Amino acid sequence: MAIDPTQPYDDGNIFAKILRGEIPSNRIYEDEWAVAFEDINPQAAVHTLVIPRGAYVSWDDFSARASDAEIAGFVRAVGAVARAKGLVEPGYRLLANVGGHGGQEVPHLHVHLFGGEPLGRMIAR
Ligand code: AMP
Repeated sequence: MAIDPTQPYDDGNIFAKILRGEIPSNRIYEDEWAVAFEDINPQAAVHTLVIPRGAYVSWDDFSARASDAEIAGFVRAVGAVARAKGLVEPGYRLLANVGGHGGQEVPHLHVHLFGGEPLGRMIAR
């Protein structure tokens, strides 16, 4: 079920638990600002999630409340993960679902990084 993006941050969400190391993940990158791990239910040959270390519900929350350093660090981390996975030359796609119409299910900001094959149209119709 999609989340309500106006709700306060829930410290018990599954990505908060992954950040704290309370549940396992296939972690492939981490730095001061962000952590990246493989999606448990991949929708493409490469499907990696990048999340900020800070407690932000969504892109909306992050863009409104995060510090300039957090935003810069997170954006750079997404780029670093794409480069580390060799996605730049063949190309890739970034996606951040927000709230109900976006179909966001986990209430901790995450950017999906898709690649490893031609990805087709941007949105299925
Ligand atoms: P969204 O619909 O944008 O909120 O996407 C949530 C994503 O999190 C989905 O692609 C799920 O497959 C993924 N996901 C859920 N639980 C886990 C987990 N424990 N480890 C890795 N990915 C997960």
